[in-house]
Parts: sequence; structure tokens; C-alpha cells
Amino acid sequence: MPRGKLILVGLGPGAPDQMTGRARQALAEAQVVVGYAKYLDLAGGLIAGKEVIRKGMTQEVDRCRAACQEARQGKTVALVSSGDSGVYGMAALAYELLLASGWRPGAEIDVEVVPGITALSACASLVGAPLGHDFCAISLSDLLTPWPVIARRLEAAARGDFVFALYNPSSGRRRGQLLAARAILLCQRRPDTPVAIVSDAYREGQAVALSTLDHLAACAVGMLSTVLIGNSNSFVAAGRMITPRGYDRKYAGLTGAVKAGERPGRSLDMGLAGFKACVRRHLDQAQGPGLEAVARHFDVPVAEILAAIAEAHGGAGGYAAEAVIPGREAEILQAARGWGRVRVGVESGNGARCELPIDGQDLDLRGDHLCLACGEARLAIDWRRVGHAWFLRHGRGQREAWFVDRAGDALCTLSLDPTDTDPIAHFERAWTHLAIARREP
Ligand code: SAH
Repeated sequence: MPRGKLILVGLGPGAPDQMTGRARQALAEAQVVVGYAKYLDLAGGLIAGKEVIRKGMTQEVDRCRAACQEARQGKTVALVSSGDSGVYGMAALAYELLLASGWRPGAEIDVEVVPGITALSACASLVGAPLGHDFCAISLSDLLTPWPVIARRLEAAARGDFVFALYNPSSGRRRGQLLAARAILLCQRRPDTPVAIVSDAYREGQAVALSTLDHLAACAVGMLSTVLIGNSNSFVAAGRMITPRGYDRKYAGLTGAVKAGERPGRSLDMGLAGFKACVRRHLDQAQGPGLEAVARHFDVPVAEILAAIAEAHGGAGGYAAEAVIPGREAEILQAARGWGRVRVGVESGNGARCELPIDGQDLDLRGDHLCLACGEARLAIDWRRVGHAWFLRHGRGQREAWFVDRAGDALCTLSLDPTDTDPIAHFERAWTHLAIARREP
């Protein structure tokens, strides 16, 4: 029996001239073509005279099984998807089914994935250049994905200022998802954020509409639409939606003249290497804002600010900091027994702050929690969340220990009472004992 082959072919958005050469070749090679009826129509004359297995919209598993079965009989089978077979297409399902049945590379049948132009590229090309910077694809279909998962991804990407390409935004039975997505995005993004709705790209009935996030609710969006939502820099001009790549950050007026402090071909002044120096300059110039405020200014976890201070020998903005030896964070609590009155500070991350004045003697871990009481007030801190700790000094009186989680966000702080200079010597001893010795250059 000849060797079978399963080719997972992405047909592109629809128009024959948007199909890749390899996709055409694969259809020509195939003895059997399997697919959703509508997609087979896209393949048109390329599949004339072949054995064709047409299946309905929701019969993906059947389509895959049928294709694998044919390939196992030694045939060359094309299983077609619109756009790219690997993007909300048949490729992942086909591999899952094959692997579950014991298939391994080199065995039984060969498998090839033929990439195609996916909807986001096709749709973007019709409205300008809306994907000029970091973007994400999210499907609003809750047929296979629970809504809380979709909602969490929307929120995370909105926070990350990604451009969105929303696949499966709406259908006859699913109208609320797009409105719910819009509500999540409006928590992070301006109402006038540009939006493009592209329907039937490169197919009969192609339609393009430009709107805004605010007005998205009133737009016609269907099963064959992709919704592109801009980031904070996206704009519309002359009927085109553009997301800038960022050249204006480096080059004055896009003329090619490099801005002061920047070098062509090199990382930005605020790139990985330069970023911490920028933080220190900010601390030096601003003189006085709390570390949480500085972290918010740069939109980074507070541990990045502590690291920037610790990295410089002379500190920054009057602050000095040093990381605590990993794994020894809880020893700070023992040391703090000699610090007299301390304030335990907790930030919500949303701007709310709480401080509890207690006696250092009371800093005791009970099981996994640091449980504190001050009069009627109670505070419990889940110690398992502590990722790292830092010592911080500012001016004459301010001495603090910062505990951050694994992401570098503040969990709590311990501050010495600034009116009491006595415990400073105790604090400094703990610092010498527990901090990572600063490496000499
Ligand atoms: N594999 C396909 C995606 C299939 S999911 C791809 O890579 O493009 C189906 C969704 O894709 C639709 O709901 C729509 O959001 C989008 N889509 C597919 N073809 C499209 C087209 N020609 N125009 C606009 N959106 C399209």
C-alpha cells in the first residue's frame, strides 16, 4: 500500500489569488479533499474531479476522522480550513486525534501543515496597517472556551495595550459576547479608540467599516466579520487605521534625524539596558515620590524600582536598596523583634493603602500566614506569596523591608518608626546579615 498523507491546507481568506502556491499544489496532489462545504466552494475549480467529502459547520471532529481514515488507506488527503489551518482551524484537532490514536512522525502516514493568510492579516490589509505593533488574536466563541477564560484574556491583553483581532465576534445565537468584550476593554481603553470591522474579506460581499470602541455596539458584526481594535497609539487618518511601529520615539518628526540620547540600530534609551538608569534619573529629579508612585509612573512592578536603586552604588533619589538572600525572607521577621514599634503597610495595587502600627515582637508566622492585630484591627498576610525581599533606606530615618510576590508586586512593607532612632542599629545589623553582598564591579 502506498504511504498515506494528510495535508492540512489553509486556503487563505477566500479570493483565489490570496491562496499560496503550496496550497494550490497540495490541492492538486490530493486524491481526496475534506472540508466544510463553504470552504470547499472557495477551492472552486482546484478540486474539480476529485473525491470530495463535504461536512457541516459543527462536524469538525467528523471531518478530521474522515480525513485520517482516508489517509490511513494510503491516499493523499487535503483537509481544508479557511485562512490558516493552524489558527482556529483544523490543524490542532487533527494532530490531537492522530496523537491520541498513537501516531508518531515517520509512522503510517505523513502529515503536513500548509500555512495560509489568516483573517487578521487579510482584514488588516483592507483598512491600512492596524497591526503595526504588538497584537493578539482572541476568539469570542464560547462554544469550546468558558467565558471567564475569554474575559480574563481580554482583560490581560487590554492591560498590556495590545491591538486586538477578535475572531468569531458574533453570530445568530451569540450576540452578547461582543458587547461584554467591549465593556471589559472600555475599563482600560479610551472610548474613541479606533475599531475596524471587516466582513467577508477577499470574498463576495466584502465590507469594511471604521468606528470607535464606544460605537462598536451599533455596528453590524456577523459570523464572517473580524473586529480589529486599536491600542493607545492607533489612529485613523484619510480613512486608514494605523498603529505606529514607534519610529517617532527615536526619530524626530520621522525625518530620519535621531533624537537626543538615542542611537540608530541600538536599543532605546528606555530599552532593557537603559531602563533602570531612566528610573534612577527619575528618582533623582522627582525627589520624594514613594516607590509605589514611581512604579505606577513607569507601569512596572515595584521590584523593578527596588532593583534599579540596588544596582547603583550610590542608590538614587536619596534611596539605597539591597536584595535579601533568597529563601531567608522570614528571618527578617525574627530580626524585627528588636526593631521596637514598626508599621506594617499593605497596598491594594489600586491605590488603597493600609498601615498597621504594631510591636516588632508580634511579627510571628502562624502556619502559612503572618497574622497581626492592633486593637480591633486584624491583618493576615499569606506568606506563601512572598517571592523576594529588599531592604530600603531613605534619608536619616526611613528604614524599610519590602516583601514582594513572584511577579515583583508589593505584598507588604515593614517600616521603622521614624521618631525612634534606637532600633536603626538593629535594622542595619539585619541588613548586613541578610542582604546579598553587593558585587564589586
Ligand atoms: N482559520 C481561520 C479562522 C477560522 S475562525 C483563519 O485563519 O482565518 C472563523 C472566524 O475567522 C470568523 O468568525 C471571522 O472572525 C474570521 N474570518 C475568517 N475568514 C474571514 C474573512 N474572509 N473575512 C473576515 N473575517 C474572517
